[in-house]
Amino acid sequence: ASPFAAVDMAPRDPILGITEAFNADKNPNKVNLGVGVYYDDNGKVPLLECVKKSEAQLMEKATPRTYLPIEGLAAYDKAVQELVFGADSAIVQEKRAVTAQALGGTGALKLGADFLKRFAPESQVWISDPSWENHRALFESAGFKVNNYPYYDPATRGVNFAGMLSALKEMPKGSIVVLHACCHNPTGADLTDDQWTDVIKVVSERGLIPFLDMAYQGFGDGIDEDGKVVRRFAETGGAMFVSNSFSKSFSLYGERVGALSIVATSAEEAARVLSQLKRVIRTNYSNPPTHGGQVVATALSTPELRKVWEDELAGMRVRIREMRKALVSKLKEKAPSHDFDFVIKQRGMFSYSGLTKEQVGRLRDEFSIYAVDTGRICVAALNSRNIDAVVDAIAKVL
Ligand code: PMP
Repeated sequence: ASPFAAVDMAPRDPILGITEAFNADKNPNKVNLGVGVYYDDNGKVPLLECVKKSEAQLMEKATPRTYLPIEGLAAYDKAVQELVFGADSAIVQEKRAVTAQALGGTGALKLGADFLKRFAPESQVWISDPSWENHRALFESAGFKVNNYPYYDPATRGVNFAGMLSALKEMPKGSIVVLHACCHNPTGADLTDDQWTDVIKVVSERGLIPFLDMAYQGFGDGIDEDGKVVRRFAETGGAMFVSNSFSKSFSLYGERVGALSIVATSAEEAARVLSQLKRVIRTNYSNPPTHGGQVVATALSTPELRKVWEDELAGMRVRIREMRKALVSKLKEKAPSHDFDFVIKQRGMFSYSGLTKEQVGRLRDEFSIYAVDTGRICVAALNSRNIDAVVDAIAKVL
């Protein structure tokens, strides 16, 4: 018998399944709002100018592709650390943080999860309800029990903050709490500054381990504004994990550029942490690839290119906000009895639109408009050409 005789078919990835159905749809006016990718107003994934310019510089230098250090390109790790914590932050100055280049945000989460399983094996992991669909699977595959803390409140289309806070207050010491640093995926609902104050206080007083996932820095209110939560956590002086990704902010999805930063309580502790993190990396994939890290390091650390990147990222952020506003005002016209104002308050690429599974099904079957069954739509997939068709269709299924 084959050694694979007992291998079951794994369930299909629900979101990739939407794209498969979309690709097979012959309607020329089809729209895919199920994706997690930024499209420009022409419906294309952009190749950023800052990336083209960084690549041109790198081509010019034409350096050989030797192995990178286990923790990645030093210039990249430094640039990421300064971006995430601030170049003049106490953490960077006191060398309390270690940063390792990782294979996207996913790779960063996986490194953090594997590291934690070695040094906090008894801890359990808590993720928001709902969360990015890979959080649970990723921490479970690292060997953790994964629980949900209350997060989204469908009644207010905002955060069930009382529920979240009381869950945090009941978690055992040493619990690992995964928090979306900005632009919550999938809901788009973020905490207010005051709510973060309470969360930071409870996490630090109760000795929980915060794991901040920041996949959308710059898509909410700005690069620094979105990074504020990480910096506020850092000011507590406690240990923390930060995974960040440039997939979206540099439109470099396929290059797999992200990083894991671990903040320790002293430089000496940080050095020990890095030595162990390197073992995790070494036994997973040895060292990261060169190209994406070089592109991002060049763009972040060359002032002219940095400016180009910041402007391009601002352009993406502003376009998404404009689409939010357009969606709301057009829906006000077409479906005046429904209130969609919450869409403007949401941050990042996504919106929990409040559409039901049945309504999402009708959008797909009758209008070739694809969204996630939960009602999540990617606002970054709307553009000036498809928005009217989307609004008309939503008005019809409401
Ligand atoms: N965390 C969250 C919340 C995400 O939404 C994503 C990706 N969409 C990731 C992590 C993973 O990022 P990457 O694609 O860089 O692996």
